[in-house]
Amino acid sequence: MRIGIIGAGQLGRMLALAGYPLGLRFTFLDKTADTPGGQLAEIITGDFDDPALLKQLAEQCACLTFDWENVPVEPLKQLGHDVPIMPPLNALETGQDRLAEKQLFAELGIPTADYAAVNSLAELTEAAGKLGYPCLLKTRRMGYDGKGQHLLGSERDLAAAWEALGGNALILEQFVNFDYEVSQIAARSTQGETDYYPLARNAHKNGILHYSIAPWSEPQLESQARDFLGRMLEHFAYAGILTVEFFVCGKRLIANEMAPRVHNSGHWTIEGAHTSQFENHLRAILGLPLGDASARGHSAMLNLLGSMPVLPSLLQLPGLHVHDYGKSPRPLRKVGHCTLVCETASARDAGLQDLLGLAPSAAG
Ligand code: AMP
Repeated sequence: MRIGIIGAGQLGRMLALAGYPLGLRFTFLDKTADTPGGQLAEIITGDFDDPALLKQLAEQCACLTFDWENVPVEPLKQLGHDVPIMPPLNALETGQDRLAEKQLFAELGIPTADYAAVNSLAELTEAAGKLGYPCLLKTRRMGYDGKGQHLLGSERDLAAAWEALGGNALILEQFVNFDYEVSQIAARSTQGETDYYPLARNAHKNGILHYSIAPWSEPQLESQARDFLGRMLEHFAYAGILTVEFFVCGKRLIANEMAPRVHNSGHWTIEGAHTSQFENHLRAILGLPLGDASARGHSAMLNLLGSMPVLPSLLQLPGLHVHDYGKSPRPLRKVGHCTLVCETASARDAGLQDLLGLAPSAAG
């Protein structure tokens, strides 16, 4: 059976790597062939919104999915019912717009930072007055890894923030004084079977995920997170992997954003869970039984940014698994990751410190 993946980045590559043992085959669609996914499988090159190319992909494949949440939705809708596309397009559409995301969180009773849609400098000034300083001005669309964001410390910052981002549809968010960040990943199959990965604690640097630790044993937070994701899975009649990132404030979770796809904070599941997020995404969209999402130890995943460190320096660390995405070096680009799996949380924490010393380039 052949799966079509729109977007051939590292997430697509890891989906393909998870699918080959199940006998699945893959065709990607992306702008260029020299992509992490295109190095492994067939690829159609061209624009994501080219109807002829999408039709060609649909004709070859039993099911379509995507590895990037910003693929244009309209051309996918035009494909109609010729081929199943999962996760559902209404989840994709919501995940593309920070305002729609926040409105959905509110509708489902999921706490989120106070916010206001902003379309002019006057609206920005008024909204900032209401939400208070500091606050964050963000583009509603296409923002990721901290891109398209401006922190407003006081009224004096309004004009510069508007100057920088004013041409886009914007959202102003209250600044959340959080203790730390976590993410919850869930899988739901087309048959309605649902399973949850352990909660992961995430550390960011320059707005980019630096490392994740899992399982993060905070049962009260984890049960809140699962409850919230459960509501979203039902709302969308979801199929595939769904991720939500949260801020932790004391014993409360505040939702930041959703991703209708496999997620960077779930890369540890490749070696650190009985079934990886990538394999479970494929099982879920194909209606196959889900695999066990529980952890098989204590994992730390570190993103490798810019360029890959030399392998021998990394591989000398016992229990370390290295993933090179086959990308050319570029400052702050995610070129790979590595995961340490240990028997105890304390061994994992000590190992992470060693790893941070060994791979300083990863710190960005
Ligand atoms: P995002 O692109 O929304 O995931 O933001 C990237 C990072 O910026 C988050 O992981 C947080 O560390 C920080 N951040 C985003 N929104 C807020 C907020 N409303 N309050 C405080 N920090 C935030």
